Amino acid sequence: MKKSNPIADRRIFDNVYVCRNCNAKIRVSNPKLIREGKVKCRRCGSTALRPKHRELRVLKAA
Ligand SMILES: [Zn+2]
Repeated sequence: MKKSNPIADRRIFDNVYVCRNCNAKIRVSNPKLIREGKVKCRRCGSTALRPKHRELRVLKAA
């Protein structure tokens, strides 16, 4: 029986970034790499990524 784990779900969510260029979703194992600009979008090669956080969306709207 499969049950969703809130902690795991959150962790997955935390590690998902979105390309600002083409909106491709990119899963990152280590967020440090994002800050160092070492993660590139697979689709367009851009390093302009933003974290996909629901909370950030709220902040943006406010
Ligand atoms: Zn991209």
